[in-house]
Amino acid sequence: MYNSKDTDCRIVISRVSEGEEESSSSWQKLEKTATNKTKTLHPPIECHWQLPPIKQPKRSSSGFKSMLSYPLKVGESLKKVGRTKSLQLLLEGTHDPKHEQIVQSFRDMLLLEVQVPPKHNDYHTLLRFLRMRDFDVAKAKEMFLNYLEWREDYRVDTIPREFRFEERERVKKCYPHGYHGVDRFGRPLYIERIGMVNLNELLKVTSVERFVKYHVSEQEKTLNLRYPACSIAAKKHVASTTSILDVQGVGLANFSRPARAIFMEIQKIDSNYYPETLHRLFIVNAGSGFRMLWKALKAFLDARTLNKIHVLGYNYINDLLEVIDPSNLPTFLNGNCTCSDYGGCLLSDKGPWNNPDIADIVEAISTTDKDNNGDGDGDDETTSEATIVRKMKIEALEALLEDTKSALEGLALHIEQLRSF
Ligand SMILES: [Zn+2]
Repeated sequence: MYNSKDTDCRIVISRVSEGEEESSSSWQKLEKTATNKTKTLHPPIECHWQLPPIKQPKRSSSGFKSMLSYPLKVGESLKKVGRTKSLQLLLEGTHDPKHEQIVQSFRDMLLLEVQVPPKHNDYHTLLRFLRMRDFDVAKAKEMFLNYLEWREDYRVDTIPREFRFEERERVKKCYPHGYHGVDRFGRPLYIERIGMVNLNELLKVTSVERFVKYHVSEQEKTLNLRYPACSIAAKKHVASTTSILDVQGVGLANFSRPARAIFMEIQKIDSNYYPETLHRLFIVNAGSGFRMLWKALKAFLDARTLNKIHVLGYNYINDLLEVIDPSNLPTFLNGNCTCSDYGGCLLSDKGPWNNPDIADIVEAISTTDKDNNGDGDGDDETTSEATIVRKMKIEALEALLEDTKSALEGLALHIEQLRSF
C-alpha cells in the first residue's frame, strides 16, 4: 500500500497555497499523471530494472546447480511475504517509484470493481496495460477488464494443461517460425519466415482455430517460462521479445483472404491481450513487393507498435548484429547457427528456457506462487484465492478511506487558516 497519509497531508496543504504539481488525492493525482503522459513515448520496459546481485555466500561451484538451492530456501519465506513480493525479489529488482504509485492506484481502482486474480495484478502486468494506453487509466482499465473477460471465455489457463498441438512439426514445415536464442540484452529472439508460408498446406495440417490456440499457448509459455528463464540467465529483468520477420518473397499474392483472417486474429490477440511484449521487430529482405503490402498493413498497427518496427532491405545484417550475437542468428539470416541436431533453427526452440536448471528455478518460483495464490482446482485453493482477493479489496478500501480522511483533515486545516485571518 502506498503511504497515503503522509503525502496527502502535504499535498492538500500545498494545493491550498499554490502547488500545482500535486492534487488532493491519489485518484486525482492518477488522472493528472495520466493526462501529462498522454503523448509520451516510453523507454523500453526493461531498462528501469536490474536484477540485484544475489546475496549469498560465495558459491563454491559456479553455474545454475548451485543457484538451485536459492529459490528453494527462499521458497519458505516467499510463502510469508506473498506472491507479488516473491517475484519482485527474484526477478525484478527495484521498481520505478513513479510507476509504482500509478500502478498501485490502478490496481486499487480495478479491485473496487472486479475480482482480479492475484497472478494478473502484479506490477509488470498492470504496467504493460498502462503503457499500452499511454497511462490513460480509464482506457487501461477498459483494456484490462476485456483481457480478464477474454481469459475467462477462451479458458486461457487451461490451454497449457489441456491443449496438445500434435501438428507442430508439420505446421513449422509450411510456416517456418520459432523462438531461437536471445538478443544481446538477453531477450528471447523470435523468427518468422513469412515468405515461405504455404497457406494451402497449413490449412490442411491444422485449422485457423487450432493455430490461434497454439499461438496463445506460445504467448503463455513466453510470459510464464521464457521471460523468467531469460531474466535468470541474464540476471536482469526481461519482459519483451526481439523479433525478426523475414519477408523474402512476400507480395500481394501472399495476402489471400484466409491469410488475412489469420493475420488479423493473431494481431488482435497480441495487441489486446499481450500488450507491450514486443521490444523490437526487424523486417528483413523487404523488396518492392513487400513494401507495397506494408503500406496497407501499417493501417492495422497502432503507433506504439509501428515505432518498434524497422523495415530493412537486403543489407540488414549489420543492424541485426548490433543487437544479436551471430551465434543466435541462423545461417539463413547470415548468422552461424544451424541447429542441425534439431533439423533446423526454427525447430530447436533453443534458449535459456531449455536449460533444465533454470527451468527448475522457474518451476520452483511458480509452484511457490501457486501455493500462495490458491491458483488451482481444489476447493481449498479457490477459497484461499477468494481470501486474497478479499484482503486486497479491503486494503484498497482502507487506502481510499485514508485518502478521504486526509482530504477532510486538509479541508479542516484550510478552514482554520481562513478563520484565523
Ligand atoms: Zn540454431
